[in-house]
Amino acid sequence: MLPLFDPNDSEAGMKLLEDLTSNAYQIQQQVLQQILATNAGTEYLMGFLSGQSDKQLFKKKVPVVSYEDVKPYIERIANGEPSEIISAQKITELLTSSGTSGGQPKMMPSTAEDLDRKTFFYNLLVPVLNKYVEDLDKGKGMYLLFIKPEITTPSGLMARPVLTSYYKSKNFTNRPFNRFNIYTSPDDTILCSDSKQSMYCQLLCGLVQRDEVLRVGAVFASAFLRAIKFLEDYWNELCSNIRSGHVSDWITDLSCRNAVSEILLLNKANSDLADLIERECSGSSWEGIIKKLWPRTKFIEVIVTGSMAQYIPTLEFFGGGLPLVSTMYASSECYFGINFKPLSKPCDVSYTLIPSMAYFEFLPVQRNVGDQVVHCNGTVSDQNCLEEDQNDKLVDLVDVKLGQYYELVVTTFTGLYRYRVGDILMVTGFHNNAPQFRFVHRRNVVLSIDTDKTSEDDLLKAVTKAKLVLEPLGFLLTEYTSYADTSSIPGHYVLFWELKMKGKNINVEAELDGNIMEECCSTVEEWLDSIYRRCRKKDKSIGPLEIRVVKQGGFDALMDFCVCQGSSVNQYKTPRCIKSEEAIRILDSRVVARFFSQKTPSWEPFRMDIISE
Ligand code: AMP
Repeated sequence: MLPLFDPNDSEAGMKLLEDLTSNAYQIQQQVLQQILATNAGTEYLMGFLSGQSDKQLFKKKVPVVSYEDVKPYIERIANGEPSEIISAQKITELLTSSGTSGGQPKMMPSTAEDLDRKTFFYNLLVPVLNKYVEDLDKGKGMYLLFIKPEITTPSGLMARPVLTSYYKSKNFTNRPFNRFNIYTSPDDTILCSDSKQSMYCQLLCGLVQRDEVLRVGAVFASAFLRAIKFLEDYWNELCSNIRSGHVSDWITDLSCRNAVSEILLLNKANSDLADLIERECSGSSWEGIIKKLWPRTKFIEVIVTGSMAQYIPTLEFFGGGLPLVSTMYASSECYFGINFKPLSKPCDVSYTLIPSMAYFEFLPVQRNVGDQVVHCNGTVSDQNCLEEDQNDKLVDLVDVKLGQYYELVVTTFTGLYRYRVGDILMVTGFHNNAPQFRFVHRRNVVLSIDTDKTSEDDLLKAVTKAKLVLEPLGFLLTEYTSYADTSSIPGHYVLFWELKMKGKNINVEAELDGNIMEECCSTVEEWLDSIYRRCRKKDKSIGPLEIRVVKQGGFDALMDFCVCQGSSVNQYKTPRCIKSEEAIRILDSRVVARFFSQKTPSWEPFRMDIISE
C-alpha cells in the first residue's frame, strides 16, 4: 500500500505529498478498510465486531480507549501469547513510550511493516526540506542521535524506545545511498550504548568535518542543548584529539573507537583546525557558537514545539539567528505529521497529518479563557474515562474545523484501535484536503524537561511521600507548586513549598534542617516515574530537583496574581505548575531557602515480571 518513491527525486516526492493530501478522505477510508479487513479476526476486534470489517460498525461498536484498556493485551503478548490477540501481523517488538502507566513506560506494539512505514515517512521529509533550503546535497548533517537501554520481555520480544528500534534496524543501517542523508556521525557512534562515549565521538566527528556541515540537529531541542553543554565541558580534550589525530583512551567501545579513528585519519592531525576551535570556544561568550563552529550551517533541526518550546531562547542564543526547524510530529504509537513549512517561526509551526500512516479521528475539546482544557461535556477534569456516547463525538480527519481543538485518536496498522494519544492539537489550516495542526500540549502533563512527562498526579504522589519526611518534625506543607527551570543545562524541576510549624506561629526558616530538606528533594525524585529517573540517572538530561521554601503568604500573593489575571476567587485552586514568568517571579521574591537533591534516584531498566505481577 505504501507508494515507492526515490527521496532524491524532489519533484516526485512533492507530487506524492500533493496526492496524499488531496486524496486524504479516500486514503483514510482505504486505511481503515485495510486495517479492519486484516485484523477483524483478532481477539480484540472480535469482541466488538464479531468478525465483521464494516467501517460503520467499527465506528459504532469499537470504543475509544486509553492505555490502561489495552495494557492487559500488550502484557499478554509480552508474556508469550500470540500477536493475533490484537494484530494479524506479527508483533515483532514493543516500543517503550515516554508516557508512563503505573510508573513504568507504556509499551506500544510494532511490526516489521511498520519500520517500512517509518522509512517512508522519513523519506517524505526530504523533498520538503529541499524545497525551502537549497543545496543540502552539497554537504553533511551533524545529527546527534542516540540509543537508549532496551530489555527483553519474558517471551523474548525486545522492548525499547522507538528511535532505538529504528536506528538499530536494517532500514537505518542499510539505508540506501541518499545524498540528502549523509551524516557526520558514523552509525557505530550512534549505536554505541554508552551515551557519554557516543556523545563525545559524535561531536568529535562533527568538529573534524566542520567544513562539510550544512545542518546540525538532534531529535529534540533538549538533546541538542545537552550536546552544547557537553561541548562546553570537553572542547579542550576534543581539540587535543583533533591536534594529535588520536581519540582519547577512555573511548573504549571498539566499534565506536575504530569508526572515529578512521575519520580522524582521513582528516589527518590538524593543528589549524584545533587552534580555530579552541579560539572560538575560549571566547568570552558562546553567543552564536554554532555558526562559528559550523559556519556553513543553514539551520538547526530540532523539535521545538510542545514542551520543547521552553528551549527556544537558549537555542536562539547559541544559534545566533539560525532558523530552528521542527520537521515532524511522531510518537511510539505511530508517526503522525510533517511540517510543510520547515522555515516557519517555531510559534507558527503546524504539522500536516499524513493520511496513509494510520486512521485518524479527533475528539473535540474546548479551551476556556484560563487556558485550561475543558472537555465538551463541561468538566474540567482530564481523567481517562470517557462518556459512553463520546464515540459519537469523534470527527474524521477531513471533517475537523479550523480553529477547533481536538484530542488525537488513532487506529494503527499495529494493533491499536481508537486509541487516545493524549495530545491536544489545534487546526490551523489545510494543505489541499489534509488539515494542519498546531501541537497545543499533552493532556495531563505539567512538567517536562527532556522526554519525561510528569502529570499533576505523579507530582502529588511524590510530594505526598516527601511530606512524610517532614511531618514527624512538626512541619506542615500548606501549599506547593512547581516549574521546569531550563535557564541552565540540564534543566531541573523546581518545587515551591510553603511550610508551617504545627501549632506554632513562628518563622519556619529558622527551624529548617538542610539535611532533612535535601532528603525531601531526593524523596520526591525517588517517587517520580521511571522515565524521570532514567533521565536523571542514566541520560543525565535532568539536573537535581530543587525545593524553594517561600515565606508565609507567598501563595496568597500567587493567588492575588492569578485572580488579577482572571481566575475566579471562588473557584481558585493553586496551580500545581506555573509557567508565567511573573508568577515565578512573585514566588521567587519570597524564597527564604533553597535545597537541592544530593542523590541520584535509583533507576534500572524496568522488568516485565514486575509489571505484570
Ligand atoms: P513517545 O511516545 O515517547 O515517542 O512520545 C511521543 C509524544 O511526544 C507525542 O505524543 C507528543 O506528545 C510528543 N511529541 C512528539 N513530536 C512532537 C512535536 N513535533 N511537537 C510536540 N510534541 C511532540
